[in-house]
Order: sequence, then structure tokens, then C-alpha cells
Amino acid sequence: MTRVFNFSAGPAVLPEAVLERARDELLDWHGHGLSVMEMSHRGKDFVGIAEKAEADLRRLLDVPADYRVLFVQGGASQQFAMVPLNLLPEGGSADYLDTGTWSDKAIEEAARFGRVNVVASSRATHYTGIPPRAAWRLDPDAAYVHYTPNETIVGVEFHEPPDVGGRPLVADMSSTILSRPIDVSRFGLIYAGAQKNIGPAGLTLVIVREDLLGRARAACPTMLDYAVFARNGSMYNTPPTFGWYLAGLIFEWLLAQGGLPAMAERNARKARKLYAYIDASGFYVNPVEVASRSWMNVPFRLADESLDARFLQGAQAAGLHNLAGHRIVGGMRASLYNAMPEAGVDALIAYMRDFAQRHG
Ligand code: PMP
Repeated sequence: MTRVFNFSAGPAVLPEAVLERARDELLDWHGHGLSVMEMSHRGKDFVGIAEKAEADLRRLLDVPADYRVLFVQGGASQQFAMVPLNLLPEGGSADYLDTGTWSDKAIEEAARFGRVNVVASSRATHYTGIPPRAAWRLDPDAAYVHYTPNETIVGVEFHEPPDVGGRPLVADMSSTILSRPIDVSRFGLIYAGAQKNIGPAGLTLVIVREDLLGRARAACPTMLDYAVFARNGSMYNTPPTFGWYLAGLIFEWLLAQGGLPAMAERNARKARKLYAYIDASGFYVNPVEVASRSWMNVPFRLADESLDARFLQGAQAAGLHNLAGHRIVGGMRASLYNAMPEAGVDALIAYMRDFAQRHG
């Protein structure tokens, strides 16, 4: 068996130890003679798996008692609609910060349900940074402020949550959750698709402050109402049981690694190494302002675009997979989620150095 270094932005690399454990437990979970996929979600075994996953996640993120953890489906894209359906009253307005493609999609969807005030946008500078806080035009009456802490495509990250006064702060943490400790109490609602740092695609995590529940519009579909998930332990209907189980294995793995402080240290080191090499290379370029560079997604361009295909072919042959940038922006992108070992970053840099020497 040869495992490659998978730099995909998502679905992304999972920890090998977790995959091995899932394999070992696949046919016969804990001697019960069946797999997790075949269990009733309401049976005591699966309920135990589900509760342990939530407890471990709460430990990892130090989730305060007045926050609920919800296990939802529909991906982060469905949250683009669920957030306004639950938190934007009819006739109300919400503040959105535009720092990239994903912010933009959230804005477009929210605009279907009410007034959206774009607080600030970095579109004019090709999303290579975060608009300065002093230039944000926050609306004092906004129902909430939405932002994207890590823009997966352009590789722009907020290294601290912004101060938005007393308004509930809503964050699309799809590509940064669990990469470092965060202060959950700074947020009204956090959501994240699972397929980067949490587990397999199909599961979406929501962490919401209790006082924000029960505000959904009258016409909000049952399955899009956060309060329905909260009241029913995320089991109003059949949840994505296998994804939930696998997320639980990831949470256990993260705790065994030393939790989020240890992940932050490792992630910062991996990113620092790669950016340092790119900046010094004279061959590769990352256009993002230094203070806002993402730890998780590192886009870069070659000095000569006509070499892109050759770069990708050679990388693939060297066991470095999925380095092509998002189709919207082209170029390259290395995603360095929690499960990407430092050896993968070292191998990537060695390959990039060799390629630059041969083609520079
Ligand atoms: N937001 C961000 C920041 C993302 O990176 C992605 C997916 N790459 C999405 C939203 C959309 O997620 P999903 O495919 O789970 O709907």
C-alpha cells in the first residue's frame, strides 16, 4: 500500500491512524457483530458514539455550557441559507464581510431572504487581504455579522476574530475549524462542513449560542430550523451516522495529539516553512498580504504559467497529489489541514526547489 501526500482542499486528507481504526472496526464494531453504518441511530450503541463525539468536541474547543452543538447535513452551502432563515427577521438586515468567493456565496444566498449590508469588500484587490477594520461600515441594527475566517480558495485567514460590538458574530469556519484554539464565546454561531478538518463529507457542524435558537421564520422548513436540531439531539431524522462516528474518531485523535494548542503549533510551523520557501524562491509567488496568509490553504503561482501542467505532472509522479488551484483562480494550492504531516510539507518544498532549479 502506498499512501500519497494529498494536498486537496476538501474532501481532504484524514489521519492514517483514524482510517486504520475505522478499518479495524468496520465489520465488527466493538464485538457487536455489525458495523456502525448498520446500527439504528436511536440504539444505545450509536447514541453512545454520538454523545462521546460531542463531549470530545466540547473538550477540544472548550465550548461553553450555553452553546449547543448540532450535527447537520447539507454542507456549509446549506448554512448560507439556514443562517438567514433562522437569524434574519423579515424586514431586517444583516452585515456581511466580503473577503473571497465563499463570503460572496454566503452573501448571495442571504440576499434571497432579506437585506444584506456588505460591510467591506476586498474584491477590488483580488481578495489578497482583509479590508482594514477602520473602513468597515457596520450597521448598528444588523441582526448579525457574518464573515469567513478562512477563505479556502484565495488563502486569506483572520488570525483573530473581529470585534463587532454586541452583534452576534457568525463564522463560516469550514476550512479552519480545529486548526487552533478559539474563544467560542466570541461567536453567536459557528458552522463548518466536515470534509476538511472534521471528517468525511456529508456532515456539517454547527455551534450556536442558546439564545439564538427559536427565532426561525414561520415559513422555515423543519429541517432547516436550528431549534429542531437542538430539541432532538440532532436526530429529528436519521443523521449521517458514519460521518458522525468518524468525526468522533478524529476528535479522539486530536485530543491524543495534545489538542488544539498542539495542532496550532504544528500548523503554524508547516505554513511558515512553506511561505518562507515560496518568498525566498524567486520562482513561486503567493500574493496574499503577509498578516492575512492562511495556515490551511497556501495558493501559489509559478513564474511561468506555461510550466503549470509540467509542475503538476511531476508532483503527481513524486506522490504529491491534488496541488492544482481552484478552477476559478488557477495556479497551485497546497492545503495543509491537521492531518497533513510535516513530512508532506518537507517533501513538497523539496520537489518545488528541484523543479525551480530545473526550470528557473
Ligand atoms: N465555505 C468554505 C469556506 C468552503 O471552503 C467551502 C467548501 N470548500 C464551502 C463553504 C462549501 O462547503 P460545502 O461543499 O460543504 O457546501
